[in-house]
Amino acid sequence: MIEARTLRGTVELTERAVAAFGRALAGRLLLPTQDGYDDARLVWNRMIDRRPAMIVRCGGADDVVHAVRFAREHDLLLSVRGGGHNVTGAAVCDGGLMIDASTMKGRRVDAAAGVITAEPGLTWKDFDTATQPFGLATTGGIVSTTGIPGLTLGGGHGWLARKYGLTCDNLLAARLVTADGRVVTASAEDNPDLYWAIRGGGGNFGIAVSFDFRLHPLTSVVAGYRLYPMTRAAEVLDVYRDSAAAAPDDLTVYVIVTVWSDGQPVIAIVPCYSGPVDRAEQTLRPLSRLGAPLSDTIRPMAYGELQTMFDATNPPGAWYYKSGYLDDAKIRDDRFIDVLLSQSDFPSPSPLSRIVIEHLGGAMARVAPGDTAFTHRSGVFDLIVIAGGFRPDETDKNVAWARRAWSAMRPFMSGGVYVNYLDADEGSERVKAAYGATYDRLAAVKRRYDPDNVFRLNQNIHGGH
Ligand SMILES: Cc1cc2nc3c(=O)[nH]c(=O)nc-3n(C[C@H](O)[C@H](O)[C@H](O)COP(=O)(O)OP(=O)(O)OC[C@H]3O[C@@H](n4cnc5c(N)ncnc54)[C@H](O)[C@@H]3O)c2cc1C
Repeated sequence: MIEARTLRGTVELTERAVAAFGRALAGRLLLPTQDGYDDARLVWNRMIDRRPAMIVRCGGADDVVHAVRFAREHDLLLSVRGGGHNVTGAAVCDGGLMIDASTMKGRRVDAAAGVITAEPGLTWKDFDTATQPFGLATTGGIVSTTGIPGLTLGGGHGWLARKYGLTCDNLLAARLVTADGRVVTASAEDNPDLYWAIRGGGGNFGIAVSFDFRLHPLTSVVAGYRLYPMTRAAEVLDVYRDSAAAAPDDLTVYVIVTVWSDGQPVIAIVPCYSGPVDRAEQTLRPLSRLGAPLSDTIRPMAYGELQTMFDATNPPGAWYYKSGYLDDAKIRDDRFIDVLLSQSDFPSPSPLSRIVIEHLGGAMARVAPGDTAFTHRSGVFDLIVIAGGFRPDETDKNVAWARRAWSAMRPFMSGGVYVNYLDADEGSERVKAAYGATYDRLAAVKRRYDPDNVFRLNQNIHGGH
């Protein structure tokens, strides 16, 4: 017998039933005793150490249907894995059935139409590698190992969001396996309520087995970073605040406060300019007011190079996040800079830890709030405190550092938070804050497509079940 967790308790499955399920799959069913099981249950955040009773390495959409039906038949707890990057580790469940779609890497680019059809196993590296030979791109995550499904369904911040909108704003359609094991299309024409909900509502409504994204012409950008010592941080933040707020859609500028390889705390200005190259210098000029940096790597580069620039500083390991959208009016207050610098306590306890300010607005702000479930469109900046790269015995110290820095910055935040940056220790009020004004409408869609809350291992929307 194989014991597995259900939505309500546990169940004993006969080996025969499990073997028959495995035989029906085009992919592979992994049990805890089998080779490959321990690798398959790993996710990016290595603080997560969960042991599913079964892992389905999906061979295609039919396997997802089989797995959902099998889970329903036995009332199994299920989790869904894409790129495995979510910091909460919700992709892996303890004792239940993990549906691993990272093996589904099919893609087809229709260059003439400017559309890619992509399966949920693609990372952003796979995605960019498929589209860049055609000179096409869409907004994606800034670390290329992140998966497309989780990022897209939660919204999708990225270098191109100010120019082309969030990743979910470029989602034309998706096919999902719903809680009753049907495959449905979500698009403007088909199931428009579902289409609305999956653009910001996360993995609450079904398992996406393919996505159609709109693509845009783009092959190169002017990007890199300028690094300044922390002693100049106040001046850097002051210039940044003004120039980012006034920037055209072609320009996105992030700020990273971190520790450099020599152990010195530094502040980096990280622009991505995606407009005509002959206007790059003029567009970046406001940032040049800062004078000589410690290091300057800004230059024209292939878009794919920018998309992998931060991979080395985001390896799998121990990570912890705290974040929130900043209030545009409150960050004009000079105390914003004072508090950021005095309370953030650099050097941080671990070298990969950092505070990141993301630059938003532009095209993503011009989508009407009711058009998609993603609701945080009006603010221009998001702040993330990231503790990372520490040993397990240093967890408390690093988590405490991140919480302290985040609490100090909280008075400058709007109260809204990006669902994909919530960590596992947030309460239900913060989850509600992530869905914001769209929560009740999302709950109504949840009741329609997943009344039993089968898809619950996520930032969960309660449909009243
Ligand atoms: C290093 C790093 C960099 C990041 N950078 C960015 C960034 O630039 N912009 C940004 O917006 N976010 C970014 N994120 C956050 C990222 O959006 C989330 O972590 C997201 O959940 C990752 O998607 P995934 O498919 O890799 O996640 P997974 O961990 O595989 O899945 C997360 C959740 O998504 C849902 N899900 C996954 N696959 C499916 C599917 N096929 N169908 C339905 N639901 C599914 C499930 O609920 C699952 O629990 C980053 C995260 C990391 C770790």
